[in-house]
This record gives sequence, C-alpha cells and structure tokens, in this order.
Amino acid sequence: MAFYLDHAATTPVREVAVKAMVEAMTAGFGNPSGAHRMAREANRALDDARDAVALALGGKPGEVIFTSGGTEADNLAIVGSLESRRGIAVCSAVEHHAVLEPVERAGGAVVPVTETGVIDLAALEQVLAQAEEVAVVSVMAANNETGVVQPIGQVAEVVRRVAPDALIHCDAVQGMCWLDLAAHCADADLISISSHKFGGPKGAGALLTRNNPALGVLSLGGAQERGRRGGTQNVPGIVAMAAAISATVAERESQVPRVRALRDRLVDEILASVEGAVETGDRASKTVNIAHLCFDGIESEALLFLLESADVMASAASSCASGAQDPSHVLAAMGYDRDLAFGSLRLSLGYTSTDADVDAVLEVIPGAVARLRERS
Ligand code: PLP
Repeated sequence: MAFYLDHAATTPVREVAVKAMVEAMTAGFGNPSGAHRMAREANRALDDARDAVALALGGKPGEVIFTSGGTEADNLAIVGSLESRRGIAVCSAVEHHAVLEPVERAGGAVVPVTETGVIDLAALEQVLAQAEEVAVVSVMAANNETGVVQPIGQVAEVVRRVAPDALIHCDAVQGMCWLDLAAHCADADLISISSHKFGGPKGAGALLTRNNPALGVLSLGGAQERGRRGGTQNVPGIVAMAAAISATVAERESQVPRVRALRDRLVDEILASVEGAVETGDRASKTVNIAHLCFDGIESEALLFLLESADVMASAASSCASGAQDPSHVLAAMGYDRDLAFGSLRLSLGYTSTDADVDAVLEVIPGAVARLRERS
C-alpha cells in the first residue's frame, strides 16, 4: 500500500499506454526506417504518434522530433539553437537543470524571477537589450518544484520586440496534464515534452520545432527524424506516449477541477494545522496539482523519511535534487532563506490521486513536523 504524491517526478503508466507499448513490441516490432511491410507499419505508428503530439502542442506533424525524453529535448533546443544561429542563450533562473546547464555552459544569461517565482519581464528586457545577439530564450511552462506557471505570451512579446531573431523555447514537461499547451505555448518556436510526466513510459519525449527553424543536430549517424535526430526511434515508447497524450488531453477538463480541489484541501489543512508552514508562490498562478510548502526548523530529508514510514511517497524539491546538499536553486531564486528552503516539501497530485491520498498526508504531517522540531 502506498500513497503516491510524487506525480511531478513521474506518473503511473496508463493502461492504454501499456497496451500500445506491448503491441509495438510484439506484432509491430519492425524498424521504422526499413522498406518492407512490417517496417512501413512501424513507421505508420510513428506517424500516428506524431499527429497526436502535434495536435496537443498546436503544431504540425512534420515539426515533431522524437527524443529520449525531456532532458534531450531541452538540450537539443538550447544547444541546437546555439549551433544554428549567432548569439547567446538566455533562460529564467528557475529552469530545470536540463535547460540551465547547457545555457550556463555556453556562457549564457540567467534572468531572475520575482518572489512568487514568475520571470521578471523587465529584467528579461534588460538582458536582451544588453546582449549583442540572442540565439534562444528559454522559459518553462510550469515549474517542476513549485508549479508556478510562466506567462509565455508575455515573454514572447518582449523577445519579439527586443530580440526578434531569437528562438523561443518552452520546456512544457510539467504542463501536459494541467495546461492547454497549444494555447499556452502558442508563441513558442520550440516546445519540449516528456512522456513519463503524463502517464506514458520513461525514455520517450519530443521537441516541437514550429516552422522547422534550422537547428543543430546532437545525435549524428542516421537520417531518422528527417536528419534532425539520428538513431532508431523508440517506437514502443513513442506510441505509448501518444496514447497517454490522447487520454490526458481528453480528461484534462474534468481532472483539473478535481485535482485542484484535492490540492487546495491538502494545502489549506496543512497551513491550518502546522504553525509556521509557508506555501510557496501564488496559488492562483500555479498548476493545480502541486502543493509546495516550507517548514521552518526541520530538514526535508527527515520529514520525507517519516512520510515514507507512513507509506506516503513525496519529495523535497525536484526528484533530481532530492538528497542534494544544496537547497533548491528555484527557492533560492525566489529569495527563500537557506534554512527555510532546507525544510521544503513537494506533494504532487495526478490523475490517480484520491481523497485517501490527501487524508494519509494530513494524518502524518502535523505530528511528524512537531516531532522533528522537538528534536532539533
Ligand atoms: N524539464 C522539467 C520541467 C522536468 O520536470 C523534467 C523532469 O523532471 C525534465 C525537464 C527532464 O525530463 P526527463 O525526465 O524526461 O529527462
């Protein structure tokens, strides 16, 4: 028995995705680059998946590059842009490391966020105006730790006005379940998604490249994906991702209010029962599934241990940062004091979440926090 409140880290794979995957691994196992009937069938399955990705992101099937997940899509967006055009890369301070690291490695600029975690548009304008040339500006759809949603339309307005030659990349990995990405990222040239964040398997993702701008190639050695990403495609993962997208988009309208109600009850009751608990960000501008809180006087790792003893699965910041010695770069960028940031907790809900999950957390949190505070 486990109460799973870590959907931002990864999601349970949907049955339709498992079914599609098994089919692609059995009857449909052909190599999509081949010429015979079985190969053509595998290629057709990829084309169907391309249609589903394009539809969800508001693009065209020919603009979809399949990747191994969100990290590769983000890397391709940044490094590919830098290889194909002049200028620097720019991103917000709260991006996932899959964006932040390639930007920083290339000597790019990082734009601060406000205390609610939203990109500072005036600072963005200043950075763009000061740069001689800008190749790419990357701002995420929703943050993986806090759930804070970024105003991509407003970001695009600034970029088009001040650095019109730059590509706009949006890491929409956390957005598929909760945002209409076709609308939210309508002004982005490049959009990253990752299958395992919305009920698909791990190891599949995509980068939508609107109007197919020139983009450097990171994976050389094959003509797959029209020469934009060499390597035999992960057909089972990709068709399962497409099945998960269709299911996610179809139920988004009903899941959003349902999950919002669960999340709001969770946060409100924690705030009411634990003195000194702080909710990060402005709830109205966050995805509906994330409860992100900080507790003073405790350390996340110890709290997670007590939660796990009660069969509650959660994380501190992002799962990639769990166990790290430094507090989250996202909370630091929002101005949280280091000690408070050390006591952060992310409870993330999803399509399988129920009242029982919320009840399980509420039963353990007040006592666990009190125990840890007594000890310290
Ligand atoms: N971008 C964001 C916002 C994420 O949350 C993650 C995963 O946590 C990634 C990128 C990386 O995606 P993947 O795990 O598919 O490499």
